[in-house]
Amino acid sequence: MDPLTAFAIAALMMLLNGGVLGILHRDLPEALRPSAVSWRIGTLLQAGGCVLLTVQRQLPPAFLLPVANFFLILGITCYWRALRQFYGLPDKPLIYLPLVVAVPGMWWFVAVTPSLSARLWIAAIVWAVIMFNCSQVLRISPRIDRAVSRRVLIAIFTVVAAFMVLRAVLFMLSPSPGSSIIDHTWLNMITPMVASILPVTGTTAYLLLCSERIRRQWEHAATTDYLTGLVNRRIIATTGSQRVSQAREHGKVFGVALVDIDYFKTINDRYGHDIGDLALKHVAARIERSCKAEDLAGRQGGEEFVVLLTRDDITQVLAFGEKVRQSVRSAPFPANGTDLTICVSIGIATLTPADKQFDDLLRRADQALYSAKALGRDRVMAEFGHDVAKSA
Ligand code: GH3
Ligand code: MG
Ligand code: MG
Repeated sequence: MDPLTAFAIAALMMLLNGGVLGILHRDLPEALRPSAVSWRIGTLLQAGGCVLLTVQRQLPPAFLLPVANFFLILGITCYWRALRQFYGLPDKPLIYLPLVVAVPGMWWFVAVTPSLSARLWIAAIVWAVIMFNCSQVLRISPRIDRAVSRRVLIAIFTVVAAFMVLRAVLFMLSPSPGSSIIDHTWLNMITPMVASILPVTGTTAYLLLCSERIRRQWEHAATTDYLTGLVNRRIIATTGSQRVSQAREHGKVFGVALVDIDYFKTINDRYGHDIGDLALKHVAARIERSCKAEDLAGRQGGEEFVVLLTRDDITQVLAFGEKVRQSVRSAPFPANGTDLTICVSIGIATLTPADKQFDDLLRRADQALYSAKALGRDRVMAEFGHDVAKSA
């Protein structure tokens, strides 16, 4: 097989991938579509560049090489843009700078001062710069994205950049490097194969990156309360059951604090539902501030929150309840120009050998909360009628 056939096969594979991405992109969520469109344009431009290289014997090099490189470099610039869009980074015109520098450079070294070595170095530097920047976009976002496909893409960008630089170095060192890319050296043969890694394998990795993002978004929606950002009732129930077993295993005290906003209906009635929502967020934030990293706070429903606590002894569980009560009370909430003091009642229960499951514990915390309400609200009650604030 000669290099031209290899370029033709590579172009065909890229076109197929661009087509598949075009069909799939309609199934992607709205937020991912601009990025997917950029990736597809990048793949089609790469294919266009390869098609031009296939017919290079039929066209004058002074025209063909700058135009083919324009397609190829604009293609990888589109990948860079696609990744920036994927991670919500703003568009920046600077990403087109390598293209603007490289294309006239290519023309100069083919039409004015012909030099294959100079052209290879321009290509090597420009590809390395763009590949490095693509990897950087992926590297700086590990906290929001831990997908394996991200690492696969970084590896592909690194391999392609390393190959382009290696190609220039080997041509420079070669005793008879040849005068054109279509000379039959093994390096020329594998160039189209390496060049097709990105549009072919890279596109698969990119699609996996998209599907991983969608999976995480679904998971987030299924486990999180949309208003407060705390975990929802389902996660509280499953984590609660796990913590019951763990506490028994490690001999720790496991407690539950049930937090309910006092007279919340009045806040809604007086200030409106939107302010009520803001009040819920405010209380959720105060609860989270009082939590340790290993605690889990969730919204049980309405204006009721649950916190799962593992502590060394029962007084620490009770102290947590009092801390939350004071934290909410001492931070007035701005509502329609006035500062509104919100109060909460809290019921606390800790795991006993008689408890069969997490629900038993939750039921006793609810009874304690009921007594806190009955005794006048704005207080923390432990099970069995123990008034925390009074005994503190
Ligand atoms: P108590 O002191 O006895 O707890 O009285 P309360 O008014 O806080 O409790 P009640 O159960 O009478 O009312 C709770 C209200 O919470 C009723 C419901 O409309 C409101 N509510 C439930 N979910 C939401 C929500 O997501 N947003 C808003 N704004 N209100 C909500
Ligand atoms: Mg209430
Ligand atoms: Mg309630």
